[in-house]
Amino acid sequence: MIYFDNSATTKIDRRVVDVMLPYLYESFGNPSSKYYSLATTAKNAVEEAREQISLLLGCEVDEVIFTAGATESNNMIIKGVMELYGGDNPHLVIGKAEHSSVLETAKYVESQGVKVTYLNVDRYGRVNLEEFNDCLSLSPTLISIQWGNNELGSINDIEYISRRCEEEKVFFHTDATQVVGKIKISLNEIPVKFLSCSAHKFHGPKGIGAAIIRKDTLGIRTKIAPLIHGGGQENEYRSGTHSVHNIVGFGKAAEIALSEQPDAADILEQLEKNLKSKLVSMFSEVIHFNSDDHNKIPGIVNIQFKGINNELLIKKVSDRVAISTGSACSSSKPSHVLQSIGLPLNEVRNSVRVSLSKENTIEEIDEFCSFLSGK
Ligand code: PMP
Repeated sequence: MIYFDNSATTKIDRRVVDVMLPYLYESFGNPSSKYYSLATTAKNAVEEAREQISLLLGCEVDEVIFTAGATESNNMIIKGVMELYGGDNPHLVIGKAEHSSVLETAKYVESQGVKVTYLNVDRYGRVNLEEFNDCLSLSPTLISIQWGNNELGSINDIEYISRRCEEEKVFFHTDATQVVGKIKISLNEIPVKFLSCSAHKFHGPKGIGAAIIRKDTLGIRTKIAPLIHGGGQENEYRSGTHSVHNIVGFGKAAEIALSEQPDAADILEQLEKNLKSKLVSMFSEVIHFNSDDHNKIPGIVNIQFKGINNELLIKKVSDRVAISTGSACSSSKPSHVLQSIGLPLNEVRNSVRVSLSKENTIEEIDEFCSFLSGK
């Protein structure tokens, strides 16, 4: 099976599995228990992972809050900020091409009385910066804009956006799920206030992620209302017994990504170029790329095959190749991301996403292309 659906999830790295296994069996203690060694071993493992993740993101160790994944982090940050800081005129601003876990959370808070502004995006899914700046002058409670898009790969200018939010004293959150582990991130150099990410998008385990909640300039923790109440783990931000094996795996995946990311990005850029040039040479009459060539996450390519239904195409190749119509989290509906960039429904229905990983090869690309051509 050729796996070209790495934006949906990635194969866990063998080295990650190896460090996780002891925490499922021998070292099964609860890190919140006290005094005996099974507990302290688990606690130390959680803290080591927290440090590995902080190194990958370039933030402080105690700014990393473990969650069950990016969907939870997005919910927790958006609801938690709106609840605590919304006041009499709660106002949330998001982009139209956000992941469903941001869009649906926005719809939920809207149903609870929050004003939500949806920023238009350009033809590649990047937010319209003029509209963003206009919104800033209204002093919204929170602006949430994804770092990289999961269907098109386009990257927003998060440095500029976060600086402008800081200048105007507006809270800024970014859903960085698709970029963490794939591009260099240095949170200590930019004023991103909140960030969401997930381990399974960069060869870590599923069901574990983080909400990064930055401290203020005086080093004081930024409070938000918790989403899950209980025993007060994670400094009261997120209660519940830690999933130690998953946290350990997340930490290892972060350590690997930090050391191998520059090489992985090169590999992915080469693979992407190779794929595009082969597709153009073989299908020049019917092909169009919805995704940009530049300023993007390497390895994500969104392709339109004119007149060919995407579901039928995916089914046709599904014995040998895994590709998708777009986000696995909203795969039953036509992509809202492609609609937000202005594609008519018939073109949305002719579009597929190929998302590569550093483990894919040129041979797999050759096989995919010849399979597509019916050979
Ligand atoms: N945001 C983006 C941009 C994503 O691509 C995804 C995963 N499809 C999520 C959030 C949700 O992540 P998780 O699977 O960890 O809940």
